Amino acid sequence: MSFSDYTIATLGSHSALQILKGAKDEGFKTLVFCEKGKSVAYKSYKVADEIIEVDSFKDYFKEIEPVLIERNAILIPHGSIINAIGATNATNIKAQYYGSKEILEWESDRSKERVWLSNAGLKLPKIFTSPEEIDRPVIIKFHGAKGGSGYFIANSPEEFFERIKEYPGDDDYVIQEYIVGVPIYAHYFYSPLTQELEIMGFDKRYESNADSIGRIAAKDQLDANIHTSYTITGNIPVVVRESLLPMFFEFGENVVAEAKKITPNGLFGPFCLEGIMDTHLNFYVFEISARIVAGTNPYIDGSPYTALRYDEPMSTGRRIAREIKEAVQKNKLSSILG
Ligand code: AMP
Repeated sequence: MSFSDYTIATLGSHSALQILKGAKDEGFKTLVFCEKGKSVAYKSYKVADEIIEVDSFKDYFKEIEPVLIERNAILIPHGSIINAIGATNATNIKAQYYGSKEILEWESDRSKERVWLSNAGLKLPKIFTSPEEIDRPVIIKFHGAKGGSGYFIANSPEEFFERIKEYPGDDDYVIQEYIVGVPIYAHYFYSPLTQELEIMGFDKRYESNADSIGRIAAKDQLDANIHTSYTITGNIPVVVRESLLPMFFEFGENVVAEAKKITPNGLFGPFCLEGIMDTHLNFYVFEISARIVAGTNPYIDGSPYTALRYDEPMSTGRRIAREIKEAVQKNKLSSILG
C-alpha cells in the first residue's frame, strides 16, 4: 500500500490543528472528529478533508472507532483522547493507533512513572506519604485534575489540614515537594526507524493565576487572600541556554533506554519531560507525557530547534506524519502502531 491509502485522524481538541496540518503537508488525507458545536476552528483553518461531528468523545468505541477502521485511518493520540477514554481503555483500541500503548500503563500510574523516571537517573521532587511529614513547601495535586486547576500549596501539616477542608471526600491526591524554580517542558521525538532522538522544542505554560500573582504587590495578594492555582490557559515558547542541551539530550536518551527495559516496544514518537529548573540548574521532573503535548502548538511552523535540523517547517505534528510515511515506505508500519 502507498502512504496515500491511509488517512490521518484525530479528535478535534488539544493539538489537532497541528497534527492535521502536519499530515496534510506530508500528503495524507485528514479526518477530524469534533464534539457537536466545537468544530469552528477545524472548519476555519481548513486542515481537515473531512469533519465528522459526534455527541461526545466518550462515545469513542461506539461512534468513532468503526469509522476509523472503515477508512483505513491511523489515529494520532493526544491528551484529550486519553482523558476522554481513559488510559486503561486505550489498550482496547482496535483502530490503527500511532504510538506505544504499553507505555501508557507506566505513564498513567504515579508509582510506576516514578520507578521509570528515577531508574532513568532523573531527579524527581520528593513525595510525602503522610501530611504530618510536611517540612517544606509542598504542592498538593489531585488526580485527574484537568489542566492544573485545584492544586494548592502548603508549608506545614497545619496549613495542609486547613486547606484540605475545601476538598471534602477528595482523597486521591499526591503531596509533592514544591520546587522553587522555572517550569520547563522539553519536547522530544524518538524514531524507532532511525533510532534517533530529536529535541523538537521547549515551552512553559501560561497559568492562571500563578502567572499573574506577581503583577500585584505582596501586600495586595495577602489582602485579597489569593490562593495560587495553575489552570492552563496557553503555552509560551522557551529557548534554553545552549549549554543545557547536552543535559536535555541525555535525559531524553535515558528515558527512552529505560522504557525499552520495562516494555517490549519501549517509548517512541513524541514525548515530553515536564519539570522545574532550580537556581543551581537542577532539573526536577514531575511528569512525563508519552505523546504529543499542547506545548508544541506554538511551533506549527517549526521551532528554533527544528529549523536547525530541517530545511522546511517541521512541527511535531508533521514529524509524526513523516514518520508514518517513512514507515509505510519501508514496510515497517506495524512497528510504530501500538
Ligand atoms: P502539572 O499539572 O503536574 O503539569 O502541574 C501544573 C503546574 O504546577 C506546573 O506547570 C508547574 O507550574 C506547577 N508544578 C507542578 N509540580 C510542581 C513542583 N513539584 N514544584 C513546583 N511547581 C510545580
